[in-house]
Amino acid sequence: MSAEAVVHFAPAEGREPAGSLSEKARKAYLATGFNDRLAEGDFTALKIHFGEAGNTGHIKPAWLGGLVREVRGKTSRAFLTDSNTLYVGRRSNSIDHLRLAWSHGFTPEATGLPIIIADGLIGRDKREPRSAQARTSSSKIASAILDADAMIVLSHVTGHVQTGIGAAIKNVGMGCASRAGKLEQHSVAHPRVDAKRCLDCGACMPFCPEDAIVQAEGHVVIDPAKCVGCGECLVACKHGAIKMRWDQDSLRLQEMMAEYAKRVLDHFKGRAVFVSFLIQVTKDCDCMAKSQKPIAPDIGVLASLDPVAIDQAAADLLVAAGGGRDPLRAGYDIDWSGQLAHGQRIGLGTRSYRLAETA
Ligand code: SF4
Ligand code: SF4
Repeated sequence: MSAEAVVHFAPAEGREPAGSLSEKARKAYLATGFNDRLAEGDFTALKIHFGEAGNTGHIKPAWLGGLVREVRGKTSRAFLTDSNTLYVGRRSNSIDHLRLAWSHGFTPEATGLPIIIADGLIGRDKREPRSAQARTSSSKIASAILDADAMIVLSHVTGHVQTGIGAAIKNVGMGCASRAGKLEQHSVAHPRVDAKRCLDCGACMPFCPEDAIVQAEGHVVIDPAKCVGCGECLVACKHGAIKMRWDQDSLRLQEMMAEYAKRVLDHFKGRAVFVSFLIQVTKDCDCMAKSQKPIAPDIGVLASLDPVAIDQAAADLLVAAGGGRDPLRAGYDIDWSGQLAHGQRIGLGTRSYRLAETA
């Protein structure tokens, strides 16, 4: 791996129409040289998050028109993909997930691509590549991801309640994991209820997929035997009564995520590319079933062959846009750098990069 990675950058000029973003994404993607590595017949996974029902910040099909045209010019076997989620929502099985993607405009007619939910009907289709790492020895990865020949990782950069930033590393590490893989990663997170702050309103309870939140004397408590660490309750409580130990829980989660991403990308042996949209950057990720206000101005589109470098560049651009104040940490005060530091340590990529503006 070279000492310095190149991150191609197509800056946004204010709030841009979809056609203009599509052209910028196409140019940044082509600048990586990845498209020339595709050959007819390559199963090429375009890994995306279709956005939860009601979310409006997610990547839009129209932002991808130019890039998809280039990919389809090389291979007729490209497909859009994501894996099923842990939490209660419209993406926890393939039927609901597909219908949701269609309702957000990702129809074959609009994109020219089929959708394959990579871990099967109910999230059980997985394979388990192994390699010794500090926190994990294997990853439970959605099967269709590991059956593909090449991968294009399309990320909408956001803040995140558990990992500080949601970008390329998270899209691969968590987003390509089967439900069992997501469970494993989240199992290191242990939210707790601060009894003094809890108003006993019960608003968090319906959001828990495991019925782990139960009423106690004047407040709720989390049953550790049932909790899977998904973090849904952290966002659901508007009173700040549910907390994680950010320094320990988040760091462990970020490092496991980087190790999961490493095993996915080891499969592709360099045949993976990362395209990240710094557009409508929000405090929470696209799993939120609601519209959110942006926390930063639109910055543009990034593309790179290095997942660590592209995430570092995204974070740096956001901090610069905030005038030195990190907009990601304004929402949740989480040090997001753990995933980057660990990613660099384990050979996922490098934090040293050079920004190259696309013409
Ligand atoms: S939403 Fe917050 S305040 Fe309400 S019961 Fe749950 S933890 Fe307590
Ligand atoms: S208690 Fe919170 S973190 Fe645990 S399973 Fe329920 S919603 Fe997820």
